[in-house]
Amino acid sequence: MKVLITGGCGFIGSNFINKIARDSKYDILNIDSLTYASSPDNINQVDNYHFIHGSITNADLIAKTLDSFQPNYIINFAAESHVDRSIDDADSFINTNVIGTYVLLNQSLRYFKKIKPALFKFIHISTDEVFGDLSIDDDSFNEESNYCPNSPYSASKASSDHFVRAWNKTYDFPSIILNSSNNYGPFQFPEKLIPLMIIKALSGEKLPLYGDGKQIRDWIHVDDHCDAIVRVMQDGQVGDRYNIGGQSEFMNIDLVTIICDCLDDILPSDQPYSSLIEFVKDRPGHDIRYAVDINKIKNKLGWEPKISFSNGIVDTIHWYIDNRDWW
Ligand code: NAD
Repeated sequence: MKVLITGGCGFIGSNFINKIARDSKYDILNIDSLTYASSPDNINQVDNYHFIHGSITNADLIAKTLDSFQPNYIINFAAESHVDRSIDDADSFINTNVIGTYVLLNQSLRYFKKIKPALFKFIHISTDEVFGDLSIDDDSFNEESNYCPNSPYSASKASSDHFVRAWNKTYDFPSIILNSSNNYGPFQFPEKLIPLMIIKALSGEKLPLYGDGKQIRDWIHVDDHCDAIVRVMQDGQVGDRYNIGGQSEFMNIDLVTIICDCLDDILPSDQPYSSLIEFVKDRPGHDIRYAVDINKIKNKLGWEPKISFSNGIVDTIHWYIDNRDWW
């Protein structure tokens, strides 16, 4: 099984590679342009793993790589992924998330038609943020929910999803779209909420929370997300899409309070860590609530998250405490 991964030196991609590389049936090639968010050292260097430094926007490189490696799976993790950065400057988001996905699709279709591999799936990793936001009483997003992105990041991911869908509908390209809720776990770049709060708390710095902190997010442990991707590789229906979530919705203020309470137990300080919480001016266009309905992947593929938030967050806090050199 030859698996071409893009963006594998980032948070989710590196967790995914480390998981599947344990199985020698997978031969893995990772293409990553090594942006600020990447860390090649995240990946265990094993015989069935290979790396190319390059961008998914480089059509020649992608074409040559596909023709020589001849993958059975392409899993597209490569992206600019931080909402705040997309608000400051969306250029790189359009370049990688939209144009990069288009280049990758175009070259993958050419490869698929030319080589006609017996087994081939293109799996596009996307976000629940493409659906916009929900109020407290709304039903969770399901696979039929309308797209309604509110940030430059989610607009760029929505655009990439549309291209992936169009390649399937127009060219019969065997693609699948996965829309996951917020991930947490080891190797997440410390600009994202959970590692940011853990690291600031460990450093005795203020814990900045946007607005009133009442925004609600669903959190999934990255290992559960990676398991879902493996299930989709095995039995996911091409042309289909699946929502992936952790069934753990929290208001940001409650989430940060949980992190503080855990730290009070693990590394007691003079004052409770929650005294560091500080409310700051809200992010423009800040979505109120995301929540995903996972019944489709649960019923069709038998996947559901296994890691409870209470266990996952404690493990994650320990990981950041034990890996200070990493951050
Ligand atoms: P990340 O920012 O940690 O990693 C992204 C990786 O992509 C980095 O290694 C980066 O160097 C690489 N990359 C960026 N531009 C590239 C390019 N042009 N060519 C090749 N590589 C490039 O992101 P992540 O959190 O691991 O997210 C991975 C994917 O999952 C993204 O598509 C993201 O939209 C999606 N997603 C993330 C979350 C989450 O909570 N982190 C939730 C749902 C979906």
